[in-house]
Amino acid sequence: MSMICRNLIGGELVDAPRGTVTPVYNPSRGEVIAQSPESGVEGVDRAVSAAKTALQSWAETPAVERARIMLRFAGLLEENFDALAKLVTREHGKTLEEARGDIRRGIEMVELACGAPSILMGQTMENIARGIDGRVERHPVGVCAGITPFNFPAMVPLWMFPIAIVCGNTFILKPSPKVPLTPMRLGELLGQAGLPAGVFNIVHGGAETVDAILEHPEIAAISFVGSTPVARYIYEKGTASGKRVQAAGGAKNFMLIMPDADFDAAAGQITGAAFGCSGQRCMAGSVALAVGAAADPMIERLSDTARSMRVGPTDENESADMGPVIDPAARDRIRNYIETGLGEGAKLAADGRNVSPTESADGFFVGPTIFDHVNDGMRIAREEIFGPVLSVMRMEDLDAAIDQANRSPYGNGAVIFTRDGGAARAFARHVRCGMIGINVG
Ligand code: NAD
Repeated sequence: MSMICRNLIGGELVDAPRGTVTPVYNPSRGEVIAQSPESGVEGVDRAVSAAKTALQSWAETPAVERARIMLRFAGLLEENFDALAKLVTREHGKTLEEARGDIRRGIEMVELACGAPSILMGQTMENIARGIDGRVERHPVGVCAGITPFNFPAMVPLWMFPIAIVCGNTFILKPSPKVPLTPMRLGELLGQAGLPAGVFNIVHGGAETVDAILEHPEIAAISFVGSTPVARYIYEKGTASGKRVQAAGGAKNFMLIMPDADFDAAAGQITGAAFGCSGQRCMAGSVALAVGAAADPMIERLSDTARSMRVGPTDENESADMGPVIDPAARDRIRNYIETGLGEGAKLAADGRNVSPTESADGFFVGPTIFDHVNDGMRIAREEIFGPVLSVMRMEDLDAAIDQANRSPYGNGAVIFTRDGGAARAFARHVRCGMIGINVG
C-alpha cells in the first residue's frame, strides 16, 4: 500500500482524517506512488486553528525579518533545485526541462516576496483636509487559503503563499490531490528556512475540503487557480460569505499566422506552445488561425514536427520531448476529444491516439495531435481540451481571425506571427485577452 500523504499543521505532519483517497500516480509508468486523503471539515478546522494561533506574532514580526526567512527559503530552493525538478517530473510527468521551468518561475516569486519591505510601504498625504493628515498602511488580511491545480505543482502554489506570508498573513494550502508531494517538500523547506510553526499549513483533499475552506468563518481570503467551472464556484461561494477571493480559470488560446510570417520560426513556437507539458498549461496554444496562404505551409511544418516528437516516460531519462498526461481519466478525456473532432468532420493531420512511447511503459500517453479544417461550430475549437491537441482553422483575413479569437469565452492569451508591423499593431489593439504575444509562442 502506498504512502498516505499527511497534513502539515502547526509545523507537524499529522494524519488527515480517514476517508476517501485520490491516487497519486507516476504518470510515466502508470504506478500509484502515494495517496492523497480528504481532510474535510475536521482537517480544515485543525489547520485554521494552527494558522490563527500563529497569526498575531507573525503579523507583528517586522517585514524585514519575514523577508529574511523568504531569502533563506529561496536559497534552499536553489540548493534543492534538481531534486525538486525530479519530484515534479515524478508526480506530474512533465519533462525534466519543463519541471526545471516550473521550479525556476516559482523561485522568481519567492525573490519577489523578498522585497516585502518595499511592497508593504504605505503612502501619506499631509493636510488632506484642514488640520488632517491622511496615511495609507498595509495590514495583513489574516488567515489565507490557496487552492491549486495539478499542472504546475511548484509554481502555482509559489504564486500564492510567499507573498501572502511575507505580508504577515498565515496560510493554508490545499494542493491538487494529483500532485501533493512537491508542495509537501516546499513546506519542509519553509520549516528549514526558519518559518515559525503554523504560519504555513497544508491540508490535502478535493471538493469536500474546498467546501470546508469556503465555509470556514475564520478564513479571510482565498486564492484559486484551476478550471473555469470550479473558479466560478469558488468565487461565488467565497465572496457570498464575505471572503476576498481571486480565482483564475481555464483557457483556449489562439495563435494567428499571417501569410508573411516566418513559417519555420512560427512552427517551432506553435508546436512548443501546443505540446509543451503535453498541452496541460493554461497558456497552451490550442487553436492556430492560419490566414490565407499561410495554411498549407504551416500544416506541413506543424505535422512534420508533431510526427518527429519523441513521446515517452520522463522519470528516468531525458530523451523524451514530451511526457505523459496526468492520469488515466485525462488520457481518456483527450482521446474522446480526438474522436469528437473526427465526428465533427475535422481532418487529422497528425494522430496521437496510438502513439508508441520511446520505451515500453504503462504511462498515460497521448501523442501530439493536429486537426486541420476545424470550424467555429466544433467543440474542439471552443472547449479547453488540456492535452496535446492543436486545432487549425483556415481564416480569410486578419479581421476574420481576430473576430474568431474574440468569440471565445476565454481570454487568457493570444499571439500573432507576422513580419508586418501594422498587422501586429492591429492585432494587439483589437484582440481581447489578458496576455498578447507577437512572434512568440
Ligand atoms: P481543477 O479545477 O479540476 O482543480 C483545481 C483545484 O480545485 C484542485 O485543488 C481541486 O482539488 C479543486 N477542485 C476540483 N473540483 C472541485 C469541485 N468540484 N469543487 C471544489 N474544488 C474542486 O483544475 P485542474 O485540472 O487541477 O487544473 C487544470 C485547470 O487549471 C485548467 O483549466 C487550466 O487552464 C487551469 N489553470 C489556469 C491557470 C491560470 O493562471 N489561469 C494556471 C494553471 C492552470
